[in-house]
Amino acid sequence: MMNNFEFKNPTKIIFGKDTIEQVKNEIPSDAKVLLLYGGGSIKKNGIYEQVKTALANINVIEFGGIPANPEYATLIEALKVIKEEHITYLLAVGGGSVIDGTKFLSAAAVFKGDSPWDILANKVRTEKGMPFGTVLTLPATGSEMNSGAVITRKETKEKLAMGGPGLFPEFSILDPQVITSIPQRQLVNGLTDAFMHVLEQYMTYPIGALLQDRFAESILQTIIEVAPKVLKDPTDYNAAANFMWSCTMALNGLIQKGVPTDWAVHAMGHELTALFGIDHARTLAVIAPSHYKYNFETKKEKLAQYGERVWNITKGTIDDKAYGAIEKTITFFHGLGINTKLSDYTKDYEGTAEEIAKRFTHRGWLGLGEHQTLSPYMVEKIVKMAY
Ligand code: NAP
Ligand code: FE
Repeated sequence: MMNNFEFKNPTKIIFGKDTIEQVKNEIPSDAKVLLLYGGGSIKKNGIYEQVKTALANINVIEFGGIPANPEYATLIEALKVIKEEHITYLLAVGGGSVIDGTKFLSAAAVFKGDSPWDILANKVRTEKGMPFGTVLTLPATGSEMNSGAVITRKETKEKLAMGGPGLFPEFSILDPQVITSIPQRQLVNGLTDAFMHVLEQYMTYPIGALLQDRFAESILQTIIEVAPKVLKDPTDYNAAANFMWSCTMALNGLIQKGVPTDWAVHAMGHELTALFGIDHARTLAVIAPSHYKYNFETKKEKLAQYGERVWNITKGTIDDKAYGAIEKTITFFHGLGINTKLSDYTKDYEGTAEEIAKRFTHRGWLGLGEHQTLSPYMVEKIVKMAY
């Protein structure tokens, strides 16, 4: 069944070879810009030089050091710079972490409440933030064309989501050539995160949104097709370009319209990053198989469709195809070199399921999933299955 929906995505995408220099056309000439970046990869791979050259005639100051899983305390330092220097425009040059951090700053720069942490703790929706654009250096999260962000606070071992219609980038520049310097570990993270974004918006019930399903399946098929090419040769421009666009399309809002969406895998996965520092994408590969097995009865019709259309499983009953699809997904992750059990990442996993269930209860997250029926009790069972 198709549900009612509204769809508006205002982000301008500038896609293709040698497009980074176009950043100069997108930022108002009288802006005072804060250029935000991460741990310094952009200074080694030439992206920083390209951006700085393009912005030679604009007033730009810089803030580097935003870590993977953007850290609240670091962002508060950047917020001070924004206020002291009277910044009017933000430019994120990086992957999902830098872009998410920039979204938090866009919201925090105009926030009127007591503490910027309230934006996360109280799920404050930002209707209008400080304007910002992005130069994407890592295909993975889709953050370059959506209005969500996830921020980490080490002090309390929390990782919380935020967003709002005011947090779409004004523009994002996607030059697929940036992938040539990305380490393999991050390439496979990107492939896995994008794959799981599609599954979160697709592996739901009831079924019946025919076009939405086929959009989702086409992105999954494209990721499966380009994954070995991108990993074998990151200079293969066509593979890189298809990989990059798939990641953006996986989470720019389009495929979630008219369908129920799950997102419970991300909710549980975020806790594994917060507790153990495991890469975001890998936490999803740990949780997803258990989640689909635990919710097999309600999701099996869609799992079987996914098995048939994406993995060419043509024989057997609905149950056979659905189970086969979960196995194919696990094999796909293993083929990328991604482990799918929590115990592959930490020896301290005992008690994790109880801790996550406790946190969800405490936050009032009593019903997750596409029909708000996944209780903390069920979350505990799923995380335990993932040990
Ligand atoms: P990331 O954390 O932004 O970057 C991972 C690593 O890749 C960093 O060490 C970074 O180095 C390096 N890197 C980035 N581009 C590179 C390049 N071109 N060459 C060499 N190294 C490069 O990775 P991500 O997967 O894009 O983002 C993960 C974060 O996004 C998580 O916090 C996750 O929860 C969040 N997320 C957000 C959304 C959303 O919709 N907003 C969706 C899913 C996940 P430097 O730091 O030195 O640049
Ligand atoms: Fe994700």
